Amino acid sequence: MQPGTRRDHAVVVGGGGPTGMMLAGELKLAGADVVIVERRASQELDGSRAGGLHARTIEVLDQRGIADRFLSEGQEHPFVGYAGTFLDISDVPTRHNYLLALWQRDVERILAGWVDELGVPILRSSEVVGFTQGGTGVEVELSDGTSLGAEFLVGCDGGRSVVRKAAGIEFAGWDPTVSFIIAEVEMEEAPEIGMRPEGGGIGPVDRGEGKGPYRVVLQRPPDENAGEPTLPDLREALEAAYGTDFGVHSPTWISRFTDMSRQATSYREGRVLLAGDAAHVHGPAGGQGLNTGVQDAVNLGWKLAQVVDGSSPESLLDTYQAERHPVGARVLRNTMAQVALSRTDERSRALREAVLDLLAMDEPRHRMAGMISGLDIHYHLGDGHPLLGRRMPDLDLHTAEGPTRLFSLLHEGRPVLLDLAEPGTFDVSRWAGRVRLVEATHAGAWRLPVIGEVAAPPAVLIRPDGHVAWTGGPTDPGLPRALATWFGPGTPA
Ligand SMILES: Cc1cc2nc3c(=O)[nH]c(=O)nc-3n(C[C@H](O)[C@H](O)[C@H](O)COP(=O)(O)OP(=O)(O)OC[C@H]3O[C@@H](n4cnc5c(N)ncnc54)[C@H](O)[C@@H]3O)c2cc1C
Repeated sequence: MQPGTRRDHAVVVGGGGPTGMMLAGELKLAGADVVIVERRASQELDGSRAGGLHARTIEVLDQRGIADRFLSEGQEHPFVGYAGTFLDISDVPTRHNYLLALWQRDVERILAGWVDELGVPILRSSEVVGFTQGGTGVEVELSDGTSLGAEFLVGCDGGRSVVRKAAGIEFAGWDPTVSFIIAEVEMEEAPEIGMRPEGGGIGPVDRGEGKGPYRVVLQRPPDENAGEPTLPDLREALEAAYGTDFGVHSPTWISRFTDMSRQATSYREGRVLLAGDAAHVHGPAGGQGLNTGVQDAVNLGWKLAQVVDGSSPESLLDTYQAERHPVGARVLRNTMAQVALSRTDERSRALREAVLDLLAMDEPRHRMAGMISGLDIHYHLGDGHPLLGRRMPDLDLHTAEGPTRLFSLLHEGRPVLLDLAEPGTFDVSRWAGRVRLVEATHAGAWRLPVIGEVAAPPAVLIRPDGHVAWTGGPTDPGLPRALATWFGPGTPA
């Protein structure tokens, strides 16, 4: 069958990990017909994998009104990890000035509950094995020999992405320099809990809330021929790091990961897009992988929904690559820097001491913490007010209906024109049903992470992902241009 001749769904999301679920939720919220195809029979994960949500990820969940579901299960820590040290973020201007410790399996369970409420279908125990695409659609081939017709396919199928490989997209970057054994085990001797530089500086031994198995992460030299690690391999690694294996036994999970750093050279090939680990992989330092994937999804979801409902041209999708590829590239660079800073030779130690000296100062600490937490992300949308392209702060607002928070205005995933100056001066009737006009006042200062205090703009156009698309007054000719660029041409005046 010719691709495009059959349309079972507007969008097929290949892979229902954190990125795929967030993307499907965003698409569904925006009214798109989406299905997830997921290899696993259930949302259960082997091992705990990612251990935390950063401030910007919690903010995007807050923008959808679901942050409390995660906050009620996680533990708040007022710092982010950087190269084996902790950077205080308690003075960063956000309501979520902390890292939320929450295992990936819990994040996935909560996200799965959300997409289920939204009514997103998930085809479980099913794999995307390939696709063919034409001018108007893509035929997605599944492991059971059937296929699904769609307008777009998004590969959220992890670092070994079948979708990326089938699209012929290069995964460019750097081979691993270190390998880590990760395991969840019992131990006869009680080890000292916490970050321990001897093992590689990324939290070799901890035990969550003092119960359950110990989680062990140990740095090893890279070995291209190494198979899956075994209990004897773990014993050897513990001996090498600590001089004892702590009487390790009863592993529930032993696996290996590396600092391989690779990024898809393109996030889109025609009607096929990539997000999350399918688009970028890197070392675990700073805990940014899951977070970056979820934020890719929040950038792409509303844009793809507008393209499939016909309100925006396909060229809107070019902004996904333009905005998210540099973010992914920067995560690769900062994780590679952290690997270098964690080396234990004397010169690397000296470098690390120098960097830690700098990070003891407020401005470098704010910069680094802004980067790791994702709060400093700045899409280059042109010159102008410092808010342009940055995330909108969650202001306390007063409206005719009473007090509200800015993020509450984004719960439906729709763009908002926030008029903070003169009620009745803006007209968005040409974008009626798409852009919501909200008249409000805000009494306090405007403080941005890393940047500091900025002047209050008279009005702000906020995209569904919470980034600012325009600031100005009612007569600014840039406003209709920004509305058309981001939310499609308006109806004729
Ligand atoms: C030990 C470890 C520690 C980590 N710590 C952190 C941390 O602290 N913070 C952080 O942010 N990140 C961390 N990460 C990274 C994080 O786990 C990943 O970045 C994250 O899981 C990426 O999510 P994803 O949805 O893009 O991909 P994945 O989680 O890999 O999900 C891909 C999904 O697609 C499915 N799938 C695969 N192929 C197919 C196919 N062909 N068809 C259908 N389905 C398919 C898979 O079953 C899976 O459900 C860590 C990773 C590891 C291994």
